[in-house]
Formats: sequence, structure tokens, C-alpha cells
Amino acid sequence: MSNDQHGFSTRAITAGQHFDPTTGAVVPPIYMTSTFVQDGIGGFRGGYEYARGGNPTRDSLQALLASLEGGTAAFSFASGLAAEDTLLRAILAPGDHILMGNDVYGGTHRLVDRVFVPWGVALSTVELTDLDAVRSAIRPGTTKVLWVETPTNPLLKINDIAALAELGHEFGITVVVDNTFASPYLQQPISLGADVVVHSTTKYIGGHSDVVGGAVIVNSEELAEKVGFLQFGVGAVSSPMDAWLTIRGIKTLAVRLDRHSSNAQSIAETLVGHPALDAVYYPGLSTHPGHEIAARQMKAFGGMISLSFAGGEGVARKFAESMELFQLAESLGGVESLVCYPSDMTHASVRGTALEVPTNVVRLSVGIEDVADLTADLLTALDAAE
Ligand SMILES: *Cc1c(COP(=O)(O)O)cnc(C)c1O
Repeated sequence: MSNDQHGFSTRAITAGQHFDPTTGAVVPPIYMTSTFVQDGIGGFRGGYEYARGGNPTRDSLQALLASLEGGTAAFSFASGLAAEDTLLRAILAPGDHILMGNDVYGGTHRLVDRVFVPWGVALSTVELTDLDAVRSAIRPGTTKVLWVETPTNPLLKINDIAALAELGHEFGITVVVDNTFASPYLQQPISLGADVVVHSTTKYIGGHSDVVGGAVIVNSEELAEKVGFLQFGVGAVSSPMDAWLTIRGIKTLAVRLDRHSSNAQSIAETLVGHPALDAVYYPGLSTHPGHEIAARQMKAFGGMISLSFAGGEGVARKFAESMELFQLAESLGGVESLVCYPSDMTHASVRGTALEVPTNVVRLSVGIEDVADLTADLLTALDAAE
């Protein structure tokens, strides 16, 4: 049973998780069913009718996510982008404007730019660390969504959630935080004033690179009703198996993020000043421009680091292709370390826009392996790349 007074690590294991009353199985079963028998027409057991509308395994994940993010309700989806799409449909109509940070996940920008803009929504991007710039980019009465990522992907910029929420609310704007890079263990946007949190649960929440999923966590009944209706009415729901894998991942979220963060902190400190690099982007470094805000709004600084290569694109590409433990792949947040070349991989869709990623940048998702092994792998590849 969940008890909202318990701490985060306890709730990660108990919230929404009820042992099976029939057998006593400690782990609730996966309800691999599309439909539910009715005791007479309309006689639903536990309210279950058809699994697009509700499935006990998905409900269990949703209760868990709502508890961990401190929201009133959570909705889980087949992918992070399906979650974002459903949320945006719930808020936006043709004629509305959405304002986004200028360093958001490439797929989020593509969703709005290629699907919502042709439908009649206006999009602009702005530097979210500059609150005056954000204020002047707001179109009063027309801007309906302020989309915030922090830390950002891939440059690990830090945006001040409390200040942006306050500014957005001055204009009646719904403030959304994509909390994928931090996870609810490191950062709780709703408690900082945000209205909605979205996740690609594919990343840290799932945590084992074995499931694709997404979530929306809201803090108002009105929005819960709209998102809940669209989850049912459009139907991009997570499967029972995906929901179960995600629950299984969440149980270790706190211990994984502690290790991701300490490994990344150690690696970032080791790599600063390396002659092959002209910058190490990591909010845990005291020289990072967002370090103070990050220290205020995050519990630790997470597992993502980006590197900028002094020798340019060729050296960056060679480095990305030459490690052993850091495998070259898209995605992030799993227990294994990955390396990505954003300009050609995760962010290829934003080339030629204001969100273009410099071609000398490489992104690391630092896993939970032994930090000495990871450091040796990086230093060998850096020496070779020089
Ligand atoms: C991966 C990612 C998404 C998209 O999620 P999918 O599960 O791949 O659809 C959204 N935001 C961020 C920050 C991401 O890293």
C-alpha cells in the first residue's frame, strides 16, 4: 500500500503496488488482457471494461508516477512523444502559440514544427535562461504553453523552473516541464510551480534500455480530465508488459540515479581541462553557468555530460566511434553507458533551425558501471582523438 507520507525511495517501491490478493504474490501480476468480463451488462469489476480505457497494470504504473512526481494524476503512453502529443492536443487549438526552449529534444521540436504548426499552432523558441527574452517572446492571450526542459538535451543548460513557472502564470500559460533528464528522484517540477511534467520513461525511469514509453503527470482535475479523455479517445496507451517493465525499473530509480550522478560528477571533473576538449558541459561543475540554480532545484546533477572538441567535427566523430564501454547508440538513461553524436543522431531533425547542435559536440550517458573502467575508456579514446 502506498502512503504519501513515506519518502521517495519507499514510494518508488510501494505506491500503487498491491500484492495479489488471490495468491499473495508480492509482485502484482501483469494483466495481459484486452477486455474484462461483465457481471451483467455494465457490471464492471473494479471499473474495468476494455484495456484502452483502463488496465490494472497500467493503473498501477500511473499511481506510482503520480506519487513520485507529486501530481494529482498520471497517464502513461506508448512513447514519450505519444505522451507529449496527447498533452498538447489537450491544451492547444489552432490559433494558439507555444513557446519552447531553444535547446529541447529534437523529436519534441519536430512534433510541434511538423504536426502542430501545419494544424495552425504557432511555434517560437527562446533562450530560457534569459527571463527578459522569455517575457518578450510571450504573446499575451495567445501563448498557451511554455515548454521547459532542464537540464537540456544535449547542452545541459539549466533553466530556473520556479522563475519560469511564475512568469508563465502571470500570463495564464500552462507551464510544462520535460523532466526526462533529471527524473523525479533528482527534480520535482510540480513542487517548484510547474503545471505538468512529461517524461520519456524510455530513459531513466525505465532505466534498462528495454522498453519505450512516456508519461504525463498533471496537477489539476481539469487537465486530468482532458488528458484522460484523449488517452482513451486517441489510444496511444502503454501495453501491460511495457507498464510492468517500467514499474520494475522504477523500484531502483533512486539507487541508480545516485550512482549515475556520482559517476558523471567524477568523470566531468576528470575531463575538465583535457587538451582535446574546449568544453565539458555538466551542471555539477562549479564553473557551469547554471550550477547554482541546479544545486537549488536538483538533488544531484544526473548522468548526462556533453563534450565539445577543440579539434572539430572529425575528432568528435572519431571519439564517438572509438570507445568500448560507451556504446554508440541513441537514447540515454540506462544502466549501460552510451555515447551519441547528436548532430547526426538524436538532433538530425533540427539541423538548419535555431536548435542546431554544433558538429563538434558529443553526448555521454554515463551508466552505473565502475567509474574507473569508464574513465579509462574515455581517456584512451580522448588520447587517440587528439
Ligand atoms: C527521448 C526523449 C523524448 C522522447 O521520448 P520517446 O520515448 O523516445 O518517444 C522526449 N524528451 C526527451 C528529453 C527525451 O530524451
